Amino acid sequence: MAAHTRLQDPVQFLKGVGPRRAEHFARLGVRTGRDLLYHVPHRYEDATRVDQIGSLRPGDDATVIGEVVAKGVLPTRKRLRIFRAVLRDSSGLIECAWPGQPWLDRQISKGDLLLVMGSVGFFHGRQLRPREHTILAREGESTDRGRVFPVYPATEGLTHRQIRGIIEANLDELLEEAVGREVFPDDWLAEQGLPGLAEALEVLHRPEDLAAVEQARRRLAWEELFFLQLLHARARHEIRSRQSGDAKRGPPVQTESFLAALPFQLTSAQQQAWSRIRSDMEEEAPMYRLLQGDVGSGKTVVAVAAMLKAIENGFQAVLMAPTELLAEQHRRTLTELLAPIDEVPALLTGSVTGREREAVLGGLRDGSIRLVVGTHALFQDGVELARPGLLVIDEQHRFGVSQRRALRDLGGAADVLVMSATPIPRSLALTLYGDLDLTVIDAMPPGRRPVRTGVRGYADRDTALEWVRSELANGRQAYFVYPLIDESENLDATAVTEAVEELRDRFPEFVVEMVHGRMSATDKEAVMRRFARGDIGLLAATTVIEVGIDVPNATVMVIEHAERFGLSQLHQLRGRVGRGAEQSWCVAFHGGDEIPARLNVFASSTDGFYLAREDLKLRGQGDLFGQQQHGIPELRFADLERDADLLERARIRAREIISVDPDLSSRPNRGLSRELTERYADREGLYGIG
Ligand code: ADP
Ligand code: MG
Repeated sequence: MAAHTRLQDPVQFLKGVGPRRAEHFARLGVRTGRDLLYHVPHRYEDATRVDQIGSLRPGDDATVIGEVVAKGVLPTRKRLRIFRAVLRDSSGLIECAWPGQPWLDRQISKGDLLLVMGSVGFFHGRQLRPREHTILAREGESTDRGRVFPVYPATEGLTHRQIRGIIEANLDELLEEAVGREVFPDDWLAEQGLPGLAEALEVLHRPEDLAAVEQARRRLAWEELFFLQLLHARARHEIRSRQSGDAKRGPPVQTESFLAALPFQLTSAQQQAWSRIRSDMEEEAPMYRLLQGDVGSGKTVVAVAAMLKAIENGFQAVLMAPTELLAEQHRRTLTELLAPIDEVPALLTGSVTGREREAVLGGLRDGSIRLVVGTHALFQDGVELARPGLLVIDEQHRFGVSQRRALRDLGGAADVLVMSATPIPRSLALTLYGDLDLTVIDAMPPGRRPVRTGVRGYADRDTALEWVRSELANGRQAYFVYPLIDESENLDATAVTEAVEELRDRFPEFVVEMVHGRMSATDKEAVMRRFARGDIGLLAATTVIEVGIDVPNATVMVIEHAERFGLSQLHQLRGRVGRGAEQSWCVAFHGGDEIPARLNVFASSTDGFYLAREDLKLRGQGDLFGQQQHGIPELRFADLERDADLLERARIRAREIISVDPDLSSRPNRGLSRELTERYADREGLYGIG
């Protein structure tokens, strides 16, 4: 039996906690001693940087720390009750006044050390009107640790000071155990400029200066990134170690003639991607690769080459799309691309039924069908492949960690290529898709006309819509995209259902239809098909059209209430146009008085990777994660922007370790194995850990 440790103890049994407080702690995600140790301050008040009370002037906006030397509630003639407290620091005294907050008298006591932020005015003397205040310490509580005060995430029933007291009471013991939990060699840490675990935790809880705090945070960020990468590395190893012997090294007959028959040269980004994929496929271990590239960057051509490589080595290749419409579209594209070399792809979707379906199933089973395009229908019972050699999955953002696992089970030892048209920054890609190898096509084929984008207020709507009419009159088609489908959800958003009526009134000479998320898949697809054929001039839609559909004759994208969309989503929507030879346009209407920063960034560039990085900066990483979808734990300490260097190192190191010791069973790696289990024990299913 493992020795009992405080780190594993329920927090209830630690000093100063007990059952009631343990319940409050649970709300903060703190259940064990270990959780408490990792419950680090979310900010610090640095008393060495605050303003000196003696030098405050009326008009200043100030932050001060001082001791309460007098206090009380004063009634005024207007029956407004004002709480006042006089603060003192080494430089002087100032009165603070909180009008209308007499209850503060019960919370703030003489002798308290108070941090106050607010503006300095003049009222019988200098007076500070606090916007915010924090009680840093009560009289008699020790503050001699330094002048940097940790402020902890708190919850109802548990103030940040109580938490600080509890942590302080238990810290020495917990840290002592943490010393034994160090999983990285000292000399390696020193080389990386990172403090040891116990040292980092001590600095975070008992900081002396903020520079040390940042180094300590980096240490915890490192751990967090490293263990996630370790998990990814293990998943990757597991796939790649499946016995296969499927090295596809036959002569490149079809691939060569396909590439030679293309009416264009591959861009160098495409060439690089192709050469990576080719060498992956020539290896014994199965390929497991993500191919990222903006809409129109030419991923499909590369994927087709890969499919042919599977075929020329005697295997079957599968291309899977998220919807029937996209599957049909891919099938058409492939049929055209493959015509010069006499290959014809089969189609298998839910709508392929009866004898046709039997024929496809039979062909897949006996191997006479070598190429097939389809939807999830491919993964249903009764579908059997004679010799699966490559699975290509389009539009990966619908595939989270658990779907990726299902896929591996299905394809056996086949190569897997996941294609994504959602540009995301590399740091985010490594975090979300760290189990895959990454390839990015980061340049567009030459001669593309970038979509031109205008951001307009609703005051300009008439002019803009008349311009749309002229485009339609020239035979083009337009999308109108709305943020919500139902007026009742939000009063100031024009809903699609209503908007269609408005558009029909305004454009009586054109066919106006709509698609939205509440329509059945069949109805949606029927409308999309008519739009693709050119039977509909103007399509009003919610973001259901975000993914993949390709209508080259559609040259206008109007986005209503663009301020409600994220930058990446706007870019994704804009990618629906600009797919033909004609100049395409995007008009983003915004409802406010001023153009939001995001929309200016959107209009300034059509580079999806640039926009994704800006999006990460503007919104922060929390929003971008879509954790539930991906099944990846939230990062508490790491910042994907700031810690990108740590992330790269974490990935390399994790892969090195796993390649030598995949089970983490060697002596030096046992600590890693235990740490991995403790970290992810509550995440059952994430790669089967726990
Ligand atoms: P993606 O799948 O990345 O959205 P596609 O492969 O569908 O992009 O390519 C978009 C269009 O660009 C297609 O019409 C394709 O034939 C064309 N294309 C692809 N690669 C090149 C290239 N290197 N030069 C010129 N046109 C290309
Ligand atoms: Mg595509």
